[in-house]
Order: sequence, then structure tokens, then C-alpha cells
Amino acid sequence: MKNNPVIRWLQTRLGFFSLLVLLLWLKTAFAYYVDFSLGAADILQHLLMIFNPVGTSVLLISFGLYFKRPKVSYAAMLTIYILSTILLFSNIVYYRSATDFLTFNTILSAGKVAKGLGKSTASLLQWHDVFLIGDIVILIFALVRGWLKIDQRVFAIKHAFTVTTVGVFVFLLNLTLSEANRPQLLTRTFDRNYIVKYLGIDTFLVYDGVKTAQNNQIRASADGTDINKILNYTNAHQVPANVNYFGKAKGKNVIIIHLESFQQFLIDFKVNGQEVTPFLNSLYHDQNSLSFNNFFHQVGQGRTADAENMLENSVFGLPEGTAFTTLGSDNTYQAAPAILEQNAGYTSAVFHGNVGSFWNRNHVYKNIGYDYFFDQSYYNSSPDAMTTYGIKDKLFFAESIKYLEQLQQPFYTKFITVSNHTPYVLSKEDNPFETSDTSDKTVNNYFQTAHYLDESLKEFFNYLDSSGLAKNSLIMLYGDHYGLSSKNNTALAPLLNSDDNKAASDEDIQDTDDWTPFDNTQLQRVPLIFHMPGLKGGIQKQYGGEIDVLPTLLHLLGQDTSNYVMFGQDLLSKQHQQLVAFRNNNFVSDKYTVLGGKGAKSAVYDNQTGEQLTDLTDSQVDEIDKLQDQVTEALSLSDSLNYKNLLRFYTPNKFVPVNPENYNYLDQINELLNKRTQLGNASTSLYSQLGHSSTSMYHTDAPEITDAKKDIEEFPDLGDTSNSQAQENSQTAKTTSQKK
Ligand code: MN
Repeated sequence: MKNNPVIRWLQTRLGFFSLLVLLLWLKTAFAYYVDFSLGAADILQHLLMIFNPVGTSVLLISFGLYFKRPKVSYAAMLTIYILSTILLFSNIVYYRSATDFLTFNTILSAGKVAKGLGKSTASLLQWHDVFLIGDIVILIFALVRGWLKIDQRVFAIKHAFTVTTVGVFVFLLNLTLSEANRPQLLTRTFDRNYIVKYLGIDTFLVYDGVKTAQNNQIRASADGTDINKILNYTNAHQVPANVNYFGKAKGKNVIIIHLESFQQFLIDFKVNGQEVTPFLNSLYHDQNSLSFNNFFHQVGQGRTADAENMLENSVFGLPEGTAFTTLGSDNTYQAAPAILEQNAGYTSAVFHGNVGSFWNRNHVYKNIGYDYFFDQSYYNSSPDAMTTYGIKDKLFFAESIKYLEQLQQPFYTKFITVSNHTPYVLSKEDNPFETSDTSDKTVNNYFQTAHYLDESLKEFFNYLDSSGLAKNSLIMLYGDHYGLSSKNNTALAPLLNSDDNKAASDEDIQDTDDWTPFDNTQLQRVPLIFHMPGLKGGIQKQYGGEIDVLPTLLHLLGQDTSNYVMFGQDLLSKQHQQLVAFRNNNFVSDKYTVLGGKGAKSAVYDNQTGEQLTDLTDSQVDEIDKLQDQVTEALSLSDSLNYKNLLRFYTPNKFVPVNPENYNYLDQINELLNKRTQLGNASTSLYSQLGHSSTSMYHTDAPEITDAKKDIEEFPDLGDTSNSQAQENSQTAKTTSQKK
């Protein structure tokens, strides 16, 4: 034995170091596959996931090599090893109950962790956890018994430094490959899962620590007087509601449909003589719809999350990164679900076919005050039910019904679709639409997924009609942001100019050769449609954007918004200012498109002609500079509100701050059933009103649904205690890991 080279190697200091690195690497990689669902999607992601513990382990444990005295050096390495194991182990246990990783704030407030753990820790332990702890006992035993000898030789500092450098190098390689596979990984912060998958648990904690410190520093610099500037601005910019519309939808259910990546140009758009979205077109022109055709998205890097942020709060996203992920875990909100619950008794719910951790929704929704969040774990997520970003829309709507019908009315609900998401891929059987034949595959695919989304909406609307919900509901649809980017637009231009589409388009779109930044900007229009029996108004031409939706919606519901901090204005108000601020300081008014963020010194285009204006009159310069100042002021005040978390200093009259601890999205089926029993005859859910489930009223032609049939059936009757489905699902929830 003594002559075994491995055993001899282990008796050296570098040998002991290597053993610790190897063990830490193995247990971390083991945990990635067995205890967490990180959802590696391709070979590179698997490799990065397997190897990401190496760099940080070498780096961390190498600090023990700098101690001169052998015993101290060994003790230091072992201590770092034990601490790393404790961090890993705590994350595993926390993840089992919260499907989330420990953050700086959760660690600092140990009480909250304990609460997050909910059940006693003992029940969260599994037999294979022995591997995590067992080796430490063996290591200490081996050292004490002298099986592992402490190498008494001097270990030169320069060698220690070499080892640390190797660790740094491996880590940087890891980081570079990760950024290549997932660009903007650290700047956009899509999902905590992503950072752990690519860079590891240690890196996540450091990353989170840096972000938390930055946030705390900015917040500490704020005081109550900062909010006054904002209140002055928002009070001065409020406009009165339009009396013809105020309260028009009072007491109605609200059904919001988030049309993923859906642009306004698709409305009435034809490919090969066929309408791409015939159902949405009919809704757009319906006499019971209010439709907007100069409505723009205003998102930044946070895309979908920015759109949601504006729609729920009437506050902008951030100039860089994503407010939901960087600030959403602990910012104070006064958002639609809480306003409607407190003022009009609404129950609120979000339905979404992607994992709950994406964009940090599982935390943000609690701070916003959403009662329920049905994420992917509540749906059949077998591979054939999924598209790149979650449950296919047809299956998603069909399966949502069993939850929707249990909600107490009136409800405020949001359905976030996913099928029409880049790269716009559908399986053949879902895809009967004969699309365009441009040189750009993204463009061709886009029409197919948009068509699929349209069909899913038609099925959902048919259900709303036959179940009777349509009568009592205000349905609002909006496109969250562009689907085709500027680089796709030149391939799109000839289609926009085809005979089929030219007549239908209100926009003066250039041909490929003359394509300008003005044209790109015009394509940032997205749909906004309110639909309700008796809601008249037709197609509205006033310019507006996502920031304006919340006051518009709340006024339709008869809610006074004057006490709330909102950066938008009611689109239906006669005094609505037609000014759309983009996140990069560009803007569009009813007359001009101003690109460059420098007022009259920017590229200024005439909206009528699409021509760039080079000789501005003095009064034009004045007008444009004033608008620019307004845009800059609104964005910077919104940033200060977000970064400094200023709403914590202001509570509107009669508003009760939201307590996120009141919400838990893990056991919602049971919660719904308990509510139904508790209320008895007073239950106002559709299920209770009908006296039975409405799921049989749902009809879909989705080819997958024959297999998924069981999933659209109602949930078990009361008395049947099989409520474990959601819990089971949430634990086996697979993380989708594709790019967003
Ligand atoms: Mn989106």
C-alpha cells in the first residue's frame, strides 16, 4: 500500500488539496443532476454544468495553501471544504421545498429561510445526502488516525499562487464559454437557474451578493423626500378619465392575454393571399372592441418582464438588466392585483407555461399581490406538449380551464402565451399554415407560430362564449414586444409592400433598399385590444404605449387612479398626451419619430412622410426639445423609483401594503378547493355557479390533446384528497433552458 503512487500523492499537500477539489467537484455535479433541475439543453450546457464546480473549487480551496504552518494549512483547506459543503447542502435542502437557490438576503434573514423550508428539515432529507456529509467524517478520521499524513514540507507561496491562477483561468474559461452559449447571461439575469447551471452555486452567491450590496447602497442613499419629486411629476401628468368609458367594465372579470412577440403589422396581414391571424383580425374589427393601431411596446433588455412591469405598475423597466430579476425580490409595489383586490374584491391569477423561476416571477408575483400563479408545474409538461419556451398555447389554454373555473369572481387573470417566441418553431402536426418563402427563416417561421397562437385564441374565446364567462368579462389582449428584429425587417419589407398587404397597412413602409431606422421604429407597434359586449369605440388612432395601459384599464373598471404613482396616462382620456418614450430615450409623438435621444439634435423623422427632417424651424426645435426633456425626465424618475425602492416611503390613501408572506404557489389546488368548501353557497366561481365543471365545454383540435385529455378534466371532487398533484409536479418541474 505504502508504495501505491496515488496513496503517496495523497500524503503531499498538493495531493490533499486535489482530493478536496475532486470530492467537492463530484458532490456538486452529483447534486446538479440529482437534486436540482437545471435543465441543460445541449452538450455544451451539460459540459459547462459538469465542469463549472472545478474553477471555483480550485480557487477557494487554494487559499489554504498560503499558510506556512502545515497544520494550519490543512485545517484551512478542510474548513473551506466544509463550508462549501454546508453551502451546497443548505441549497439542496432549501431547493427541495422552495425550488429556488439561497440568496444573500435569504441567508441573512435566517427566519425567512426557516419559513421557506416550511416542513421540518428532517422530512426534506434523502438517503443519498449521506454522500455529502460522510466524506467529511472519513477525512477527519483519516487525518486523526494518521492514514492521511500531514505533509510537513514547506509549500512555497509562489506555488500556491500558481494554483490560484489556474483556478482563475479555469473560471474565466467557464465564463467565456457560458457567455458564448447564453449571451448577456450576467447582464440580463434571466433566471437564477441559469447562473447556477452555467457558473455554479458559489458564483451565483457571489453574483447575488454583489447585486444585493449595490442595491442596498443605492437604497440606503434614499430617503422619504425622494418620493416627493416623483409624486410631483405623476400628479402633474395625470389626466382625467373619459366619462364615456369610466366604469364601463365595472365589476367584470378581467382576462388579459399576453400575446408573446406579437406585432401590430400582423393584424390583417396576408401571406400567399391567406390571413395569418384571421381570428385576431375579426376581434380587432369587432364592434364590441376598442382597438389601438398606434400603440407601441416600450421594453428594454427585460423584454417580456419589462412589458409585464409596465402593465401591472405603469412604471418603466430599467435602462439595463431586468427590474423583475434585479429588484423584484424585495421592491415595494402598488400594482393592479393588489389595487383591484383591495378596492373591488378581485381574485388574481397568472397562467404561464414556462417555469416559475423565469424572470423571477415566483418572487415578483408575491410582491405584486397575485393570489395564484399557475406555472409549468401545473400543466402536463411531457415533451410533446412543449415548445421551446413551455407548454404549447393550445394545450396551455385548454388545461388552464380547470383552474380558471375555480377562481372566485370577479377575477383578474393574465395568460402569458409562449408558442410565438423566437425561434418560432412548431412541430409539423401543429402547423398547417402555408407560410412565406423569404430568405430569412425566422420571418417564415414567425407567421406559422403567429397563426398557431391565433387558432389557440379562437378555441379559448369559443370556450369563454359557451361557458358564459365572455358575458361577464373584459378581455384585454396586447403584444409584449417585437418578434422580428431590425435584422429581419429587410426580408420582411417586400411582404409588407406586396399587393396583398399594402392596401391594409396604414403605415408608409419603405422597400428593402430604402429601409430606414424610421421604418424599424414603426414596426415597434404592437396590438392592444379591449373586448367586451357593449364596449364600443372601434379603432383608435391616438399614439400611446405599454406604460399607458394600467390607468386605461383601471378607469374602464371604474377605479380612481389619482392616488397611485403611475407614469402612464389613460389612452381614452381626451387630454391623453401622444408621446411614447422608448427605453433608450428615443421617442415617437403623433407628429415625429425622434431617434438618438438628443432632442432636435437627433435624427428627426416626419411620421406622415417617413422622411428625415433636416431643416427644422425654430418652433419645431423648441417643440421637439421639450418632448425630449419630458421623456428623459419620466425615464429617470422611474429609474430612481425602481432603484431606490421609493414606494416603501409612500402608501396611497386606503392602500394596504402587500405582504408577500401571504402567498404560496405550491399547493394551490388544495387552496382553491378549501376556498370552495369554506364559502359553500357563497362561492362565486364558475364551477360553483354551474354546479359542475365547464371543462367539457372546451374544444381544441390540438393533435396532442388525445394524449393529454386527462389534463383538461376538472380536478378531483371534494372529499377525494388527491391534492398532491401540484406538489408532485412542482418538485419534478423541469426547467426549460432555451434562450430567451
Ligand atoms: Mn416576450
